[in-house]
Amino acid sequence: MPTTIFEEMSALARATGAINLGQGFPDGPGPADLLQAAADAVLTGSNQYPPSMGLAETRAAVARHYQVHQDLNVEADHVLITSGATEAIAAALLAVISPGDEVILFEPTYDAYLPLVLRAGGVAKFVTLRPPDWRLGLEDVEAAIGPNTRAIVLNNPMNPTARAFGRTELAALADLCAAHDLVAICDEVWEHVLFDDRRSTPLFGFEGMAERTIKIGSAGKIFALTGWKVGFVVAHPGLLGPVARAHQFLTFSTPPNLQAAVAFGLGKPAATFDAMRADLQRSRDRLASALAAGGFSVLPSEGTYFLCVDLAASGIAVDDREVCLRWVREAGVAAIPLSAFYASGHKPDPLVRLCFAKSDAVLDQAAERLIQWRKAR
Ligand code: GLN
Repeated sequence: MPTTIFEEMSALARATGAINLGQGFPDGPGPADLLQAAADAVLTGSNQYPPSMGLAETRAAVARHYQVHQDLNVEADHVLITSGATEAIAAALLAVISPGDEVILFEPTYDAYLPLVLRAGGVAKFVTLRPPDWRLGLEDVEAAIGPNTRAIVLNNPMNPTARAFGRTELAALADLCAAHDLVAICDEVWEHVLFDDRRSTPLFGFEGMAERTIKIGSAGKIFALTGWKVGFVVAHPGLLGPVARAHQFLTFSTPPNLQAAVAFGLGKPAATFDAMRADLQRSRDRLASALAAGGFSVLPSEGTYFLCVDLAASGIAVDDREVCLRWVREAGVAAIPLSAFYASGHKPDPLVRLCFAKSDAVLDQAAERLIQWRKAR
């Protein structure tokens, strides 16, 4: 397996001293009260194995959080705590797929999904979404479903497209899952990172979906602490049990002190999450308008830490991977080429993803460097 595009570009950024707008992580220290809660838990709490399912307080906090923020009917015993969402996705795929089962993946596909489907013995069926609106083509999904289809993996809001799927698309997808008896593995790590007054719409909450959905979330994304690697799975017992048994042999359990701090964080008032969203929306607009003023064509970003630049429409007739390799060395800015997320054979438009979860000064400097690079060509 190749090194991930995130690791590759971050290594190049470290080696060249470039501003890293590639791998998606915020550049701030994270919320001080969560850091303090974690430090307190290290010093005064247990540092031995917590239960494999997660600390009782953290499982209860996840359930409560989804009751409050997404109006979901979830109890603590529907929750499993994992070491990050990627581990949760691995455990879900290992639990659900038997060798030969087909799994529907939407393309551009987040990098971990395909290798994990293959490792679980599954066969990937791609449904390719197209810019600039990245609509979920339900006819395409239906055409991809066959007698061996077992599951779909949905990332909503979607990385790297920055698209947040709406109620109509999701309702139609839920109907297809029910009609074809599919499990929906929903990677909703960006559920709180939504802009322009959008609200999260978990597939779990649609009619008939609670029994067939494995919902995955991430404290790292919610609290801008990506290195913590605390994820969670929500599912009804019949689905959660097999996922938990896969998790036992992946990481077994997740650091108890971080779990304790996450439990505290999830209980914070709604205003905390609104402020986080508003801050990121401001950063999105700052980077997007600077780039647009400098002649770049920027695609809309409805959620996530990311926006995409359309290279051809920006007058740059170079392949996206080539542009990223040149930007990191010549402009001093690391970015992610979207072609890294295609495996079906579809030839995508050259697009580049930039992370805007950064301070104003960093965003301004990165935009300035890219604008100068474009002018100098
Ligand atoms: N989710 C992060 C991104 O999209 C990458 C995480 C990782 O590097 N594994 O940038």
